[in-house]
Amino acid sequence: MGRTRLALLWFSVIGMTATTARSGERQDIPGKYKWNLADLYPSESAWTKAKEDLGHRLPELAKYRGQLGKSAQSLLTALQAMFDLDRDLSRLSVYASSLSDEDIRAPRPREMKQSAEELGTQFASACSWVRPEILTLNPAKVRKFVAQEKKLEPYRVYLEETLRRKPHTLGAAEERVAAEAGEMERAGSEVHGVLSNADLPYPTIKLSTGESVRLDASAYSLHRQDRNRADRDLVFSSFFGALKTYERTMGATLAASVKSHLFEKRVRHFDSTLQAALFQDNIPALVYKQLLSDVHRSFPTLHRYLTLRKRMLGLDVLRYQDLYVPMVASVDMHFQPDAARAITLEALAPLGKDYTEALRKGFESGWTDYLPSTGKRSGAYSTGVYGVHPYQLLNFNGRYDDLTTLAHESGHSMHTFLSYGAQPYATADYPIFVAEVASTFNENLLIHYMLDQAKNDATRLFLLGTLLDGLRTTLFRQTQFAEFELAFHEQAERGEPLTGENLSTLYLKIARDYYGHDKKVCQVDDLLAIEWAYVPHFYYDFYVYQYATSMVASTSLARAVLSENKGNGTGSPDAAVRPRRDAYLKMLRSGSSKYAIDLLKEAGVDMTTSAPFDAAIAEMNASMDELEAILDRQAKKGPPR
Ligand SMILES: [Zn+2]
Repeated sequence: MGRTRLALLWFSVIGMTATTARSGERQDIPGKYKWNLADLYPSESAWTKAKEDLGHRLPELAKYRGQLGKSAQSLLTALQAMFDLDRDLSRLSVYASSLSDEDIRAPRPREMKQSAEELGTQFASACSWVRPEILTLNPAKVRKFVAQEKKLEPYRVYLEETLRRKPHTLGAAEERVAAEAGEMERAGSEVHGVLSNADLPYPTIKLSTGESVRLDASAYSLHRQDRNRADRDLVFSSFFGALKTYERTMGATLAASVKSHLFEKRVRHFDSTLQAALFQDNIPALVYKQLLSDVHRSFPTLHRYLTLRKRMLGLDVLRYQDLYVPMVASVDMHFQPDAARAITLEALAPLGKDYTEALRKGFESGWTDYLPSTGKRSGAYSTGVYGVHPYQLLNFNGRYDDLTTLAHESGHSMHTFLSYGAQPYATADYPIFVAEVASTFNENLLIHYMLDQAKNDATRLFLLGTLLDGLRTTLFRQTQFAEFELAFHEQAERGEPLTGENLSTLYLKIARDYYGHDKKVCQVDDLLAIEWAYVPHFYYDFYVYQYATSMVASTSLARAVLSENKGNGTGSPDAAVRPRRDAYLKMLRSGSSKYAIDLLKEAGVDMTTSAPFDAAIAEMNASMDELEAILDRQAKKGPPR
């Protein structure tokens, strides 16, 4: 409850690249480029009144305690009260945090956000008894209640989801101990965060431009893209050299985090840490392992990409240090916000008129806060309020990246719009495993639309290069992370010690395997062994693989929808029956009424098979065919004069 939404918000935010926004003042921005928070509450005082009212309703939950098993009606009354509170609380929180994001320096909205968060904590504790009490009931009895009382149907998923946890739920006293122990679970991650964000003495280097740069993690991710090769060498050796001095400490923080996962596995009777983590969203461990084996099978495609990158950069030897510089120097593309909206709508036309018309209306009616302004939160995200509409925050600066972000966040927003419109509140939030499918699907349609429209080879090369770099960093690099994560957890499960040195040895072996070091495809230096130490995702308990699976699913789905569209040949996306598109839209409307794997299966991608992965790899190869054809044509013509 609420968990999915928060996690989703975070997911969207971290997926963003930092923008150096040209900021004006918020008051100078035309209203049509701002979101409309008045759709939530007409005024701040209305918000305050709603908050007080909610605070008074919270204690009432206690009166349902001990009543859940009495009758279908009493179960229904309690669940309705709890979900109504959750819905109203989410409205309060979104208003306060969105207002605060308009200007993160402003004290009053920050206070409002904090008091909404406090209310959230009170709510969580006020209903902490509900799941445990349901678990004391006989499952057959719970199911009989649902069959008897039609109004319980919207809560069926919640009830089944609770019952599913029964084999891994402990007695009351043990649960209390486990909850206390859970408080210590984040220690490793927190120490790692303090060290890498604050205390680690990052080196300052001087680039060939004369610029001095303090190489912390964000400066590193910016400057690893530098076009000057000597600069990149300096950036890599300085950054990883600094991390290397803390190899032992970083190993200890990661080992602490893994120990908490082992604790969870043991006390809750799971076979493995992987199974324990994937159990939360009911994802079969097979999906994870299959991703790893599919990627291994596709190393030739990765190596083809690396060889192509070497050719495009004009290098004799490709090294790991050469993987982040864009293959094609950015072409001059700039978009006004209105043009970006129009392009996004046209690019999404294969999804049909209902979809694009709803989005057009959303664009024009206060869903989106487009432009950067002084004090505004950086990055981009999409959120939403049940019974109202989605909200999305952007920092639109007119670059191609910003256009992509608009398409991406609009994918989340339309998912929210369709799901909230079709589902009762209890199943309106969609699972994380499918969330990034809706957003990256739209990115995929956008890039194909832009390719169709591209007037010259330079633009086509840029777009194809962008598409390929995205597949490399998401499909392959995130899976490489997932493989490393599984390997060090298994090492710990076997009782082998986890030290910084061990982790580096393991990391280097996997990285060399992926990048074809021994096959002389791409040279991976010894110093790269420490790369794991700066990646915070290794503390997220088997999370990163979802970046890869989302892109596999969305690439495969977009390919199917686009080819269905082209195959029809009538020119109009609405001219005929489109089973693949309709199945995809149905998934967007389904919220969390089914498990993620089943939702995707019905949309046409069975993530327990290799078919979606093969479709994504086919897309990667087709893009390389196209890119190579352009290069060959250019080579024949000779260099430009
Ligand atoms: Zn996203």
